[in-house]
Amino acid sequence: MGAVLQSNVYSIQAVKIGQSPSWNVSMISPVLRSDVGKEMPLPFPIWVIKSKDETILVDTGIDTSVTDPMPIGKSVYGVVESLAEAGVEASKITKVIVTHMHIDHFTGYTKFPNAIFYIQRTELDHYLGPNNQNKYLTGGLPMRAVQDTIALLRHGRVKVLEGDEELFPGVKVMLAGGHSPGLQMISVETEKGTAVLASDNAYLYHNIRENVPVGWYYHLGQSVEALELCRKTASSPDLIIPGHDYALWGDKRLVDVV
Ligand SMILES: [Zn+2]
Repeated sequence: MGAVLQSNVYSIQAVKIGQSPSWNVSMISPVLRSDVGKEMPLPFPIWVIKSKDETILVDTGIDTSVTDPMPIGKSVYGVVESLAEAGVEASKITKVIVTHMHIDHFTGYTKFPNAIFYIQRTELDHYLGPNNQNKYLTGGLPMRAVQDTIALLRHGRVKVLEGDEELFPGVKVMLAGGHSPGLQMISVETEKGTAVLASDNAYLYHNIRENVPVGWYYHLGQSVEALELCRKTASSPDLIIPGHDYALWGDKRLVDVV
């Protein structure tokens, strides 16, 4: 990372808050599996984006007391502890962009008592709607998380987004859908140019490099378009950051991505 960041230029850190030994254990993919490496570990990330003035979190990780019982084979190191290794105190975080509401991206909301969660209305409508207990449509978000989301809304702790928006100078959300109905990808201005956090519209570098949509999608056409949007937005293909690629971390728990 550079020595002095400006207020609209950010660094991006990838914090691994847990890992499953293989995609085969973790994935219930109803459709294409062309993107799933057979025995590759599946890391669960949180992203920390920092400027001179701001620390913004992307996704919340997993709270196993919300997801209990956890699907077999996932180990979670602890969101608070993992962030502490990145020098971030969870209780001081005030801004969390939620890319989508799958359990590994959202159930850690419990760990951020002072945060506002930035979520797309399309995503909220889906997860609070009539299909919210269908695991193929939601990835199995527990009822407790549904109820807690309603409470967070009532307490003014959710900022409901209506599409693309520059939330902070140099940080823009892009409503993509695809992997889930209201998935938002994020463009971030960095020292190397515009980076894109693709979230789960690209699990792996493979999805980006080979232009293959992920095997778990709500809307295939949007998944395909999301990859196109990544390419159009990022200053270079190297600055498109996939959601769950073990190659990014290897055995490390914390990586300075940009
Ligand atoms: Zn997901």
